[in-house]
Amino acid sequence: MSDEKRVYRFGSDEQGRDVTEGSASMNYVLGGKGANLAEMCRLGLPVPGGFTITCQTCVAYSGAGDVWPQGALDEIGEATRDLERRMGRKLGDPDDPLLVSVRSGAPFSMPGMMDTVLNLGLNDEAARGLIKQTQDEHFVWDSYRRFIQMFSDVVMGVDAEQFENALTEKRLVAGVKSDAELSSGDLFELVEEFKGIFQAHVSASDHPELVVDGKIVFPQDPAVQLRLAIEAVFGSWMNERACLYRKRNGIPDDLGTAVNVQAMAYGNKGESSATGVAFTRDPASGENVRYGDFLINAQGEDVVAGIRNTQPIQEMGSYPALADAARDLERIFQILEAHYRDMMDIEFTIEQGKLWMLQTRVGKRTATAALRIAIDMVEEGLIDRETAVRRIDPAQLDQLLHPQFDTHTAPDVLARGLNASPGAAVGEIVFSSDDAVQRAGEGVPVVLVRWETNPDDLKGMVAAEGILTSHGGKTSHAAVIARGMGTPCVCGVEAFRIDAAAKEVHVEGTDVVLREGDIISIDGTTGIVVAGAVPLKRAELTGDLETILSWADEIRLQPGSTHPYHVRVNADNPEDAELALGFGAEAIGLCRTEHMFLGDRKEIIQSFILSDDEQERQAALDSLLTVQREDFLKMFKTMDGRDVVVRLIDPPLHEFLDDPRSLEVHIAHLEAAGAPAEELEALKARLRRIDGMAEMNPMLGLRGVRLSFVFPELPLMQVRAIASAAALLIRDEGLAPKPEVMVPLVSLESEQVQMRSICEQVIDEVAAEYGVALDIPVGTMLELPRACLMADAIAQHADFLCFGTNDLTQTTFGFSRDDAESKFIPIYLHNKLLERNPFETIDEEVLELVRMAVEKGRSVKPELTCGVCGEHGGDPESIKGLFNVAGVSYVSCSPYRVPVARLAAAQAKLAEMA
Ligand code: ADP
Ligand code: MG
Ligand code: MG
Repeated sequence: MSDEKRVYRFGSDEQGRDVTEGSASMNYVLGGKGANLAEMCRLGLPVPGGFTITCQTCVAYSGAGDVWPQGALDEIGEATRDLERRMGRKLGDPDDPLLVSVRSGAPFSMPGMMDTVLNLGLNDEAARGLIKQTQDEHFVWDSYRRFIQMFSDVVMGVDAEQFENALTEKRLVAGVKSDAELSSGDLFELVEEFKGIFQAHVSASDHPELVVDGKIVFPQDPAVQLRLAIEAVFGSWMNERACLYRKRNGIPDDLGTAVNVQAMAYGNKGESSATGVAFTRDPASGENVRYGDFLINAQGEDVVAGIRNTQPIQEMGSYPALADAARDLERIFQILEAHYRDMMDIEFTIEQGKLWMLQTRVGKRTATAALRIAIDMVEEGLIDRETAVRRIDPAQLDQLLHPQFDTHTAPDVLARGLNASPGAAVGEIVFSSDDAVQRAGEGVPVVLVRWETNPDDLKGMVAAEGILTSHGGKTSHAAVIARGMGTPCVCGVEAFRIDAAAKEVHVEGTDVVLREGDIISIDGTTGIVVAGAVPLKRAELTGDLETILSWADEIRLQPGSTHPYHVRVNADNPEDAELALGFGAEAIGLCRTEHMFLGDRKEIIQSFILSDDEQERQAALDSLLTVQREDFLKMFKTMDGRDVVVRLIDPPLHEFLDDPRSLEVHIAHLEAAGAPAEELEALKARLRRIDGMAEMNPMLGLRGVRLSFVFPELPLMQVRAIASAAALLIRDEGLAPKPEVMVPLVSLESEQVQMRSICEQVIDEVAAEYGVALDIPVGTMLELPRACLMADAIAQHADFLCFGTNDLTQTTFGFSRDDAESKFIPIYLHNKLLERNPFETIDEEVLELVRMAVEKGRSVKPELTCGVCGEHGGDPESIKGLFNVAGVSYVSCSPYRVPVARLAAAQAKLAEMA
C-alpha cells in the first residue's frame, strides 16, 4: 500500500476542535472547492464537516482504466467512519441517519463536471429514522425524492426529464404551482414513483451490483451509494463536455478533480431554513454592496435553477427567523474579504436559523467591476497598487475599449451569432469585398455580410466597419482576421440565409428580408445583430481605467533591473495616431506607408508601376511625393516631439493593381459589345503588364527592401517626403518632428548599407534645401531569420532594430499566414500539434530568434533600441516574453490594444522585478 495521503479531513471533531488538514494553497490537491472549504474551517467559520478525496486519486483511477488505486477505498471508508464519529451520526442509521453531499471540485472551476448529489445516505430505513428525529415528513420525503432524482440523473445517467415530468404531473394533480407546496403525501408517492423510474431505466447488465432478486433496485446501502457517486465524479473528469471545456480554456487534462464528501445542512426544513448564493460586492458594477439571492425552504441549486422567485440578499434580515443568520453572514463577508483581500463569491445554507458556509471562491467579475474593486481595495488599504495592477486581466480590458451600443433599453435583436471580435458597428449591408471597398471609398460605413470570408476578402474587411458571417466559428478566417484588425465581428449567424448573387438576406424565423444598402448594427462583444442603426458610444479612457493604467505606467516605466518597458502604436494615419495618444501610446512604432496609396491614389501608383512612358512615371512620382508629404505633415504634427517610425514601402506591387481576372472579364465584355479596337488594345497591354507582375510566392517575392533596388525612385521619393515634411514643420512652425526611417525585410548586410546611404543622401539634400538640421535615424526591420542571425552585422549600419514578428513567424515556420489560418492551423490546434496560434501568441522559437538578435545587436551597440511591431505587441503573454525574455525596449500595437499593452507591460515588469 502506498503512503500517499488520499483523503483530507475538514471541520471539527465531536468536541468542536478543528481537525482540518488542508488549506487554500492546496488547490492542486484538494481542488478549488475543497481547498477553500478547508480554509474557511481554519478561519473558524461554520462549515459542515467532511473530507476531500484528492485530485491525484482521480488521476490514478482514470489512468488505470477506472480501477481504484490500492488502499484508496480503505482510506475513504476510514474517513467516512471518522466523519460519522465527528457528527455523532451514522450513514443509513434507522434512528438518526447522517446524510452527506458528494461534490466535485477541480483545481479550476469547470462547468461540464459532474453535478452535486445531495442527501446521499437516504434509504427507506434512514428516511424513517430522519422522520423520528425531525418529526417532519414533508422535509424527509422531499429530501429523499431529491436524492433519488439527483442520484439517477447524475450518477446513473437516467434522463432528468423523466423525473421532471413526474413532478409536473404531481403538481398539476395537486393544483399547486411549486414543488415546495406539494404535501408530504404527494412527496412520499413521488419517492415511490422515482424508484420506479430508476428501476425502468437502469440496465441490470451494466449494474449487476444493484440487482436484488433478479431486479434492479435503488441502492439501499449508503456505502454503495457513496462509492458509485465518487466513481461518477471521477468518470466525469474525462467526459466529453469537460474535455472540450479544458481544451478551450487551456487547462491540462492531467490535473484530475477532487471529490468532497460533506455532512448535509438542510435548507429545506421549513420557514427558518434557506439556501443562497452571494458576492461580497456587486460583480457587475464593482460597487461595494452585498449582492446575491436566497430562497426560503429550499435546497442546493434551487436558487440558480430559477424554479421559484428568489429574494435579494438585503431582505434576509427582515425575516425574524433569519435575522441572526443574516447578521452572521454579514460578519462572514467581512472576515472573508479581509482574509482573501478580494471580492468573494459564496454559497450558504441556513438550517433552522443557523448559517452554514458551503463554498467560497474569488468571484468572477466584469471588466468594469474588476477596475472598481481593485481601486476601492487600494483605497481601503486591503491591497497595494501593484496587486491592483496585477489583478486586472488585460484580455478583459477589450470589453471596454471598443465602441459599444449606446442604449439604455435593450436593442431589438434580429439574430444572434458568435461574439467573434469585440466592439459594435453600424453600416450599410454589402455582400462582396469589392462593394465594401467601393462604398467605403465613397465615405459610407459598411458592414460586410458574407457566408464566410477568405483571404481574397481582406481588402473588403479592411474597408468595412463590421463583419458578419453566417458560417464559421470563433477561429474562422473572419474571426481571426477581424480580431487582428480590431474590427467588430459576429460569426455564425445561422439565421442569415444569404443570397450574395441576389444581394439579399432572408432572416430565418422572421419575414425580414435585408437588401444591399439596408442599415444593420452588430455587436461583436455580445454577438447580437439588430436591424437599423443603434447609436454607438466611442470608447474612452475614463475614470477607473485611467487610474489603473496610470498605476501601470508608474510600474512599467521604472528601470527595474533592466530598463523601462515602453508602449508604442502602429498607426498609418493621423486619426489612428490621435486615438492612440488618447489611449496612452508614447510614440509610433510602425507607420506603414502603403495604406497611403489606396483609395483614389491607387491610380497614381498604378500609372507609376504600369507605364513605360518616362514622363508619365515622373508625373506619378511627383504626385505621390506631394500626397505623401501631406500625410506626413499631419502625422508628425499630431505626434509632435514623439518618435514616428516610418516603414518604407513593403508589399508586393501587384497589391496596388487591378485583379487580372476581373480585368480579363471586363475586356471580354467590351469585346463582345464591339468596343473600339484601340481601347481594347490598351486594356490588353495593361493586362499583359499586370500578368507580368504576377509572382509564384508574392510573400517571398519582390517586396520590402527588394522593391527599392528594382524601383529605386520609390525610396527616394518616400524619404524625400518624410524629410521634407519634417523640414517644413521645423522651419515654418517651430515644431519638433521626430521621424525615423525603417527599411523592411532586410536579409543582407549590403541591403542595409546601400539603403542607408541612399536615405542619408536624400536627408542631407533636403536639410540643405530647407536650411534646417535634420536628424533622422535609419533603422532596420528584422523579420527574416537570416537577418536575426546576423543582427550584430546589421546593427552596425542601423540606428535601431524593430522586429516584425508577423513576417518573422511566417518565415521561421514557413507558414503563409492567410493560408495557415484558413486551412490548417485550426486542425493543428484541434490535434494539439500546436498549443496556440503562433500568429496570436509568439512562438517560443521565434521569441528565441528575437532574444538572440537583440543580444547580438547590443553586443555591437549596448544602448541599441530594439522594438517589436508585430501583432504580438498587443498580446499580453507575448508582451511578457518579449520584454522579460528577449529584452526588447518597446512593443508597438494597434490603437485599441495600447491600453492592454500598457497593463500587460506593467505586469511583465512586476514579474521581472519579483
Ligand atoms: P457547484 O460546483 O455546481 O456549485 P456544489 O458542490 O457547490 O456544486 O453544490 C451546489 C449546491 O448544493 C451548493 O451551493 C449548496 O447549496 C448545495 N450543497 C452542496 N453540499 C451541501 C451540503 N453539504 N449541505 C447543504 N447543501 C449543500
Ligand atoms: Mg457551488
Ligand atoms: Mg513585414
